Amino acid sequence: MTHFAANSPHARDIATLVHPGTNLRKHLDVGPTIMSRGDGIYVSDDSGRTFLDGGAGLWCASLGFGNERLARVAYEAMKNIGYYHLYRHASNEASIDLAEKLLSIAPVPMSKVLLQSSGSEANDTAVKLVWYYWNAMGKPEKRKLIARSQAYHGSGIASVSLTGKPEFHAAFGLPLPGFLHTEFPHYYRQGRDGETEEEFSTRMADALEQLILAEGPETVGGFWAEPVMGAGGAVLPPAGYFEKIQAVLKKYDILFVADEVICGFGRTGNMWGSQTFGLKPDMIASAKALSAAMQPISAVLINERVYQAMLTQSDRLGAFVHGYTYAGHPVAAAVALETLKIYDEIGLVDHVRAIEPTFLKLLGDMVDHPLVGQFRGCGLIGGLEIVADKETRAIHDKALDVPAKIDAHARERGLILRFVGNRIAFSPPLIITEEQVGEMASRLKGALDATLDDLTRG
Ligand code: PMP
Repeated sequence: MTHFAANSPHARDIATLVHPGTNLRKHLDVGPTIMSRGDGIYVSDDSGRTFLDGGAGLWCASLGFGNERLARVAYEAMKNIGYYHLYRHASNEASIDLAEKLLSIAPVPMSKVLLQSSGSEANDTAVKLVWYYWNAMGKPEKRKLIARSQAYHGSGIASVSLTGKPEFHAAFGLPLPGFLHTEFPHYYRQGRDGETEEEFSTRMADALEQLILAEGPETVGGFWAEPVMGAGGAVLPPAGYFEKIQAVLKKYDILFVADEVICGFGRTGNMWGSQTFGLKPDMIASAKALSAAMQPISAVLINERVYQAMLTQSDRLGAFVHGYTYAGHPVAAAVALETLKIYDEIGLVDHVRAIEPTFLKLLGDMVDHPLVGQFRGCGLIGGLEIVADKETRAIHDKALDVPAKIDAHARERGLILRFVGNRIAFSPPLIITEEQVGEMASRLKGALDATLDDLTRG
């Protein structure tokens, strides 16, 4: 049983909470790290230890932790009305303003916005819209959906079925039928000897086409992709990838949904990852930095093609029967709107571009370290490959638990890292300064050195 003092927050946590992404057995022993304060890009736990969060929480705290201005906006919105919904023609000004703002900054012409509370809900909504669209078009059999292996799109039943990580499926009897996964486009890991990046992209697009043909193009309705794969390990698309993939989608008339939940709002050095990598989606799912993570809110942007089909269904069927109690929540919408105002005021995208060279240089320099095989990144997102052998790119024996060792050494040095298997994904708060990038890199270097020391000493 727990060795924490009775009635301590740690013991009470263990007695009451189930934590996502956590080994529940191990949690009984190690207990929680209780985060109690935030200041800029730093968070402090209840014992007073302060960490630089290299992952901005879960890729989302774009403006860092603790925010007086957003707190005031939330307070006013809560005092004013606090809650209303969008059902049966009801509306609120914050949601209208937010939708208007999102449409004005969309990377491709978009027509309408659907608001929800999370990235999972956004992707679930988009799944249902693909099905709704093809039903409206008189092609109800066009309902299979394709995402990529190793992608993460959420934990709802549809969004986790889009997710391409077996560990999210196996023990739940998922994915749902009709959710398919094509190749993981990670050139460093999946590229063949002598294959150029362009050739690799061609092979990826061919694999997608083969999958579509094997299933029957008349049964495939939608394709999902993040511009940069986040929880897949901060994997950048190889050269020419989206151009070739989109040509296949066009050929077989398949709707394209860009999951911008991580990449949206400056992360890749443009407002949208779709701009950085030339995506022309029919729908966009966004969340996280939409409200600087200060309120749970997400948005699905849809183009005119999708919207017109929805209108047709209203003519035939009546009400559009999909939505959530908290769709268009006026407090969340007001905070999101203010967040986007702050982005404009601080010139967020310019700031990311100004910091990008330092971020890429200092983390890129880590490839000189014996434990690092590759670093790639853009804007303020990047992935670092931990390897046992730089030549063969082999990873360490699982039993050595190298990621856990690096993680522990990083925490000792006041750095929170986000591991995806043997990859470290970086997505610091977007307000990070050059000096703080230096701090992040030197703490990382210290953790890598200490881990190497452990490994050489055996
Ligand atoms: N899509 C992507 C790309 C994500 O990274 C995430 C969350 N990490 C989601 C969807 C799901 O978002 P949420 O956790 O808010 O449901």
